Amino acid sequence: MLFGILLLAGCGATPKTSTLAVPEVAFSGDSAYAYVAGQVAFGSRVPGSDAHNQCVQYLGSTLERFGAKVEIQTGEVQRYDGAWQRVANICAHLSADSAHANEKAILLCAHYDNRPWADQEEDYSERMIPIPGANDGASGVGVLMEVARQWQQLSEHRRPIEIVLFDCEDMGTPAFYTGQQLPHTWCLGAQLWSRMYVESGKPRAKSQEYAFGVLLDMVGDPNAAFPREYYSEQYAKKYVDKIWHVAEQLGYAHRFTDGRAYPITDDHYYVNTIAKIPCVDIIHYVPSETGFPWWWHTQNDNMSNISPNTLQEVGKVIMAVINE
Ligand SMILES: [Zn+2]
Repeated sequence: MLFGILLLAGCGATPKTSTLAVPEVAFSGDSAYAYVAGQVAFGSRVPGSDAHNQCVQYLGSTLERFGAKVEIQTGEVQRYDGAWQRVANICAHLSADSAHANEKAILLCAHYDNRPWADQEEDYSERMIPIPGANDGASGVGVLMEVARQWQQLSEHRRPIEIVLFDCEDMGTPAFYTGQQLPHTWCLGAQLWSRMYVESGKPRAKSQEYAFGVLLDMVGDPNAAFPREYYSEQYAKKYVDKIWHVAEQLGYAHRFTDGRAYPITDDHYYVNTIAKIPCVDIIHYVPSETGFPWWWHTQNDNMSNISPNTLQEVGKVIMAVINE
């Protein structure tokens, strides 16, 4: 299923046509936006909170409605200060059509939990209030919910897809903490998932192995830019090249830029290093002191910084990549 893209060389200029090999895909940025808003409406999805529990129900039941087989993977992990933390990863399997039944699955992931502290707030009194997490959490999940909705409507090219919504990504040591801390305090859900994947051992069914993975994190800002992240290039360069090439063909080179991002400790790091699945991080990176946008880990990470247009561009790229 291919379509040609009409490239317009600017207003009033002579149109130039070019046929590019990008699959025709449907994806609604407005629908993805509604899934982001649906999560944010619960309040901060801090692990252990009612909002977090309600969000697990909401995401799990919605994915089931889209035909996914959903499993909540639970476990206990130690957080930065040594306290034990319950983790609940949402794993949703979308099974392939018969033509693709013997293929390895594509792993699509994002984190759905929210940071319990706004430790980048200038106003000290707001630092202990959890962040709304519209971009940092809900945006990537919102795109994947819409991917699942669209995927079930595909009449062909249904490759096996595993959507994993990680918990406890954002429990890393708060900036104000001065006590002793454990190493590897971020991405606790991804660490658990990756260890359990390795421990589940072989042989596995083909659809339980992964060709590659894509992680979405902070993908909703109107001005989001996704340079090529260091670990993604180190462990999964082939797939970075593929995704950025698809984005360029779709006309989104302004979003998926040729720049480079410093190494970012995100869920994909553990998927790459523990599970050994090549995994790419699509993440909004800013060449600033923190490396992240101005609202990062503040109360301003709210719906006013979410754009349906950005979600649409990211979603179209993901749909094209999984539909090749
Ligand atoms: Zn965060």
